[in-house]
Amino acid sequence: MDNLDEKPADKNNSSEEVEHVKCLIVGSGPAGYTAAIYAARANLDPVMYEGLEPGGQLTTTTEVENFPGYPEGVTGPVMMEDLKKQAQRFGTDVRFGIATDSDLGSKPFRVTIDNEKTIVADSLIIATGATAKYLGLESEEKFKGQGVSACATCDGFFYKGQDVAVVGGGDTAAEEATYLAGICRKVYLIVRKDHMRASKVMQRRVDRAENIEVLYEHTTEMILGDVTGVTGAVLENAKGEDVQIDISGFFVAIGHKPNSEIFRDQLEMDQVGYIQTLPGTSKTNVEGVFACGDVQDPVYRQAVTAAGSGCKAALDAERYLGSLE
Ligand code: NDP
Repeated sequence: MDNLDEKPADKNNSSEEVEHVKCLIVGSGPAGYTAAIYAARANLDPVMYEGLEPGGQLTTTTEVENFPGYPEGVTGPVMMEDLKKQAQRFGTDVRFGIATDSDLGSKPFRVTIDNEKTIVADSLIIATGATAKYLGLESEEKFKGQGVSACATCDGFFYKGQDVAVVGGGDTAAEEATYLAGICRKVYLIVRKDHMRASKVMQRRVDRAENIEVLYEHTTEMILGDVTGVTGAVLENAKGEDVQIDISGFFVAIGHKPNSEIFRDQLEMDQVGYIQTLPGTSKTNVEGVFACGDVQDPVYRQAVTAAGSGCKAALDAERYLGSLE
């Protein structure tokens, strides 16, 4: 292999613990686990650090009904546990730990785990995902997974024929409101300004849906609920008056934050921080570094598309490592 000698362990600190691996995977949602399954079966001896939220965003959802292969549906945590077992079955070394720093400027790459250990990696697969933004209300936290959701495609079906609300004014909110309008009886779209930021075409779809009511200049004060889950929300209108709506689902669509901070200024990203990959591949602008799942996907953000991109990342890593031999 070429240029893969380890750097001295004591770059800054002589007691720093350093380990050399062929294939390092950071992040453990459907993208990371799928990358691990493929990498392990290709004898890349992958080491995976699960990150802050082992299993990723799906562990915060309840039922997953749209992942192919589960005719009766499956809960997010169970599906992630299954994927983890499958990755481990082929020898993936799955570890608890968070990648806290990285140096992709020279090869092999260096990734710091939990601010103390350095992994030196010949190839790196980034599957750190994205985090949905929430409003930050106490009542929202209380009903997460019990009526409060950040994914209409995942959870909308559970509110078939019921009344729901979507908060946000961008393309995601418009898309989610339109999607929900096809399933639910009524959709309130809560927009904090007097206009939406969403593209004209998306706004037209919202306007055309007879069962979407857009509440401009409204903000959410509190989400109401009981043991059955969400039952309503208290909003404040432009005049400062409280308005109550009766709903059983509250969908937050105010944007996502890709978890790419530790790679900033090293990898090409868009303005929001999504890692840019060569179209149709998982290749980043740094040879040997691959990105998959939501950290590089602002559009689809589904478990199945993340899994597919994880597969691509492992295949790309395998080919890259092969080319060095
Ligand atoms: P955006 O950042 O574009 O929009 C976020 C929206 O949420 C804004 O309307 C913002 O309001 C509102 N918001 C933010 N914080 C709050 C808050 N605390 N309370 C109430 N409202 C809040 O995020 P999106 O997820 O909509 O889109 C991200 C990117 O993905 C965009 O580039 C979008 O075009 C793209 N996208 C494309 C799609 C497609 O082409 N099919 C589908 C989905 C997304 P305000 O306007 O007042 O700041």
